Amino acid sequence: MQMKATWYKVISSALNFLFPPICLLCGSKDLYQAGCLICKDCFNSISFISHPVCVRCGKPFLTETTRNHVCGNCLTQEPSFNLVRALGRYEGALETIIHNFKYKQKFSMVNLFNFLLDNMQNHEITFASYDLLIPVPLHRSRLRQRGFNQSVILGNILKKKYQMSLQPKVLQRIVSTHPQVTLPVKARKINMRNAFKVKKSHNRLKEKLFSFLMMCTQREQR
Ligand SMILES: [Zn+2]
Ligand SMILES: [Zn+2]
Repeated sequence: MQMKATWYKVISSALNFLFPPICLLCGSKDLYQAGCLICKDCFNSISFISHPVCVRCGKPFLTETTRNHVCGNCLTQEPSFNLVRALGRYEGALETIIHNFKYKQKFSMVNLFNFLLDNMQNHEITFASYDLLIPVPLHRSRLRQRGFNQSVILGNILKKKYQMSLQPKVLQRIVSTHPQVTLPVKARKINMRNAFKVKKSHNRLKEKLFSFLMMCTQREQR
């Protein structure tokens, strides 16, 4: 076993020497750290969301001196979900990574998400305390068109990383909705309503799931 590990190290060092690893995004050889898939510049262009944030919806506050607290939106209308956290702002290298993965089918980006999760800065989610992971489903026509559901792929990363149960069939998209980004906020809400069906055995989750999906809709608009 040890012999096998030694050979693996020798071969991978030789390959790294012959074909030095480069940044997946820009091709630079100046990687952020050994074994990392992006360079220092690309990594530094990622705006990770850091404290202080709203303890419920994860919205970042502009004043860095305050502690985490509940934001105005969540105080005015208490959300039915307990906790939402985002990795970073949709800009810089993170925007490119998401775009490459979702629209250009560059699956090499998947390993990057794994690496970025390790660098997440407002990570108060105790994955072990949750029962299951439910990826946001695509309608079958969209799935045929795209060929994969990005939520299921990302869910699989979390499943492996935190030994969780992933159940892609709990939630089903029964209406082929218009892409949310093309619609104004009001129309997005109508667009989402009745678009999903929850498996009977998980009916008690219906309201929470719908509320969460609505929040994602509002976030997309910001
Ligand atoms: Zn780069
Ligand atoms: Zn909030």
